[in-house]
This record gives sequence, structure tokens and C-alpha cells, in this order.
Amino acid sequence: MRIFKFGGASVKDAEGVKNLVKVLQETGHKDTFLVISAMGKTTNAMEEVVNAYFNDKSAVANALHEVVEFHQEILEGLFPSSRKAVFKEVQELFEEVRGFLAWNKSPKYSFVYDQVVCYGELISTAIVSAYLNDSGISNTWLDIRNYIKTDNNYRDAGIDWEKTQERVSKGLDQGKLYVSQGFIGSDENNFTTTLGREGSDYTAAILAYCLNAHSVTIWKDVPGVLNADPRYFQESQLLHKISYREAIELAFYGASVIHPKTLQPLQRKEIPLLVKSFLNPKDPGTTVGKGESIDPKIPCFIVKKNQVLMKLSSLDFSFIVEDSIGDLFKLLHDYKMKVDMIQNSAISFSVCVDNKFGRLEELLDHLKGKFKVVHHEGVSLYTIRHFDTQSIDTLQQGKEVLLEQRGKETVQLVVK
Ligand code: ADP
Ligand code: ASP
Ligand code: MG
Repeated sequence: MRIFKFGGASVKDAEGVKNLVKVLQETGHKDTFLVISAMGKTTNAMEEVVNAYFNDKSAVANALHEVVEFHQEILEGLFPSSRKAVFKEVQELFEEVRGFLAWNKSPKYSFVYDQVVCYGELISTAIVSAYLNDSGISNTWLDIRNYIKTDNNYRDAGIDWEKTQERVSKGLDQGKLYVSQGFIGSDENNFTTTLGREGSDYTAAILAYCLNAHSVTIWKDVPGVLNADPRYFQESQLLHKISYREAIELAFYGASVIHPKTLQPLQRKEIPLLVKSFLNPKDPGTTVGKGESIDPKIPCFIVKKNQVLMKLSSLDFSFIVEDSIGDLFKLLHDYKMKVDMIQNSAISFSVCVDNKFGRLEELLDHLKGKFKVVHHEGVSLYTIRHFDTQSIDTLQQGKEVLLEQRGKETVQLVVK
């Protein structure tokens, strides 16, 4: 079996869905499992619905209306108005969102978030599945929440591998074409959970692992994995082949073309990951697999914008050593900070974090009781893998470097 994952950019409008059919026609669709994300920027729009629900209930209807209109336009671009069933199906899914928000009693943001945001994926797969059927590609739509089981850490749920493996092995037949959602799962009580933003790549890898798939292809708006994000760097080159190790490092440092959690399940079963262009499906793209680290071996540039740099020093000139560093990491974990980079000296400790869950103020209040704290918000973290002096010089031009760290393969700069 092969797993194909189509992200939001590939299905951002009716043309995108039509192109998806073209990709399947060109590459074949036997024994294929399609994992599909929410269309375009729907997840962001659904986040707005959740924010309105918590901050200003009168804004909920409008926020949801925008999502309805966006999908209505796509539906109209794909189906004649006589194809009533699919319009109705999508309408009913929106009714479920309204129903949930009307009846919900939980005050927990992350719980509500997952129950609402998941509809982006449920709706996109309903549309794509219907359109494929109408195009003569018969397929089976699945609610992935019946297969991917997780803990109840809403918005960043961890996989229950044993239960997931059992459900997938029992419930899925090889030889069919399945269409299902990325990014979502369900907990023990069957409430919806999500796997973290951009988590659909990870879903593809989980399914590949459980199905012993022979490959995973993620279809992107770029030719493959490049040595730099073309949105921020003018010249970028295609990497033909990279190892799992290299890919996991690039993704971890912030090369957002692959979700960092995707690589581990694939590496464990040596399932190759292909990153290919949905506009040129016959082009080879990038293969991630075992073996050679990187081909061609050139410097790779990664940027993570909007990070926070905190510099802590002890109040009484005491050392910051094992016990205090241990406490610090526990705090970072408790406040859900994603740590990008650390550096320490005798009495100071610098850490660059991604404030993904918006809890910086609380953390700073906590830290200020124990340390002298200086922090910078809105900084960028640049990472260069396989650096040379020229690549560092070019990057530094016109920037103020707040922190630098150099290893054998990797240099990192926190800049303003
Ligand atoms: P999806 O539609 O699957 O969600 P994404 O938008 O998440 O796709 O990923 C594709 C984008 O990743 C590209 O448009 C590109 O801007 C960005 N990107 C970041 N780093 C890289 C890289 N090293 N190589 C290619 N693309 C990259
Ligand atoms: N739709 C989700 C998001 O935008 C998951 C994904 O696209 O991978 O984060
Ligand atoms: Mg994405």
C-alpha cells in the first residue's frame, strides 16, 4: 500500500481538487490511502471561530459564515447544483459545529478547539471523496477518528500506538482506495483530538507504519525539499536525496515542508518518504530514505520567525547547574514552550523558545521570582546545516546577532 498526503495548499480551491484527480490519474491509485488536510487556510479560519466563541460570542456566526462561504464556492466549482447530496452533507457538517457550540458546557479552550477545528478536515475529505467518485475514481471515505487513538492532550495529542495498530490492522483492507483526514484522532472517550498544527504529514506516517506501507508521498507546492524555504530565501536548490537523520534535523530546526514527527515512524520501518510537486507529479522530487546523508551536499538554511529569547541569570551569583537547570526544563515543559536552542554558563542560561501555546507571560512571572530575566520577543532563529564561512557571512548581513551556537554540522543564530 502507498500513502499519499495532500496538504491544504493542494486543495485550496476547486482547481486544486481537480488537479488532485489529475495527479491520481497520472500516478495511478490502486492500493492507495489518501490523507487530506483542511482546504487552504481553513484551520486558521476555524481557530478564529474558536477564539470568537471564547472572547466574543456575537462574532461566532460571522466567523463561521466565512468558512461556509469559502467551501460553498469550492462546491460550486466542482459540482452541478443538481448534485444535492454533497451540498447537503457539507451543510450537515456545519450544523454539527453549530450544535456543538450551542450545547457545549466545557470551559476548556483546547478541548473545544479540537471539537471544532476538526471539521476542516471532515469537510475537505467529504468534498474530495465525492468529487473523486464523480470523476470515476471510486473510493471509500473513512472517519480516521475511529482508527487513530490518542491520549487526551488536546491540541497536541500523543498517539496510543497499540490501539491504533489494532484498529488499523483489523479495520482496513489492502487493495482499496481510501480517503481520510489528516491531523485528527480521538481519545478514550471518543472525543476528537488533534495532533498539533501541520500534523497531517504525521498522520500519513502513522498509517504507513501501521499498514507497513511501501512508501509515503507528500504532495507539495514546491518541487521537493529545497535547501531553503523559497518564501524567505531567493535562491533555493532541490535536494534529491536525504537521509531520515538529515530530514529529521531539518524538520526539527523548522524546515516546515515536513512535520518533524513524521520521520520517526517511517525510519523505524525504513519506509521511504517522497516529497513531490502536485503541479509536476512526474518529476522525481526528493526521496527521504536510508543511506547517504544529503545529495547534493550544500548548506541548508532554515528560519523560524517569531521566537522568544530568554536570558536568565541567578539573583545571588549562585551557579545555574544541574538542579536549577532541571527545574527550568520542568517549567518550560509545564508552560508548553517548545525549546529550540539552549546555552549556559556558570551563572546564566539562555533559551530560545517557540511560544506556541501563548503562555509566555505566565512563565515569565514564574521565572522572575527565581532569576533575573531579560527576554526578547519576535526574534528569528536561523539554522544553517552543512555551513561554510560564506553562508554564515551572507546570513549575518544587516542583522543583530543576539546568540550564536556552532557545532560540527550546524550553526544557529538568534537574530533581531
Ligand atoms: P501543506 O499544503 O502540505 O500544508 P506546507 O505549506 O505546510 O504544505 O509546506 C510547503 C511549504 O513549505 C512550501 O510552500 C515552502 O514555502 C515551505 N518550506 C519551508 N522549508 C522548505 C524547504 N526546505 N523546502 C521546501 N519547502 C519549504
Ligand atoms: N489542517 C491542519 C493545519 O493546518 C493540519 C495540516 O494541514 O497538516 O494545521
Ligand atoms: Mg501545512
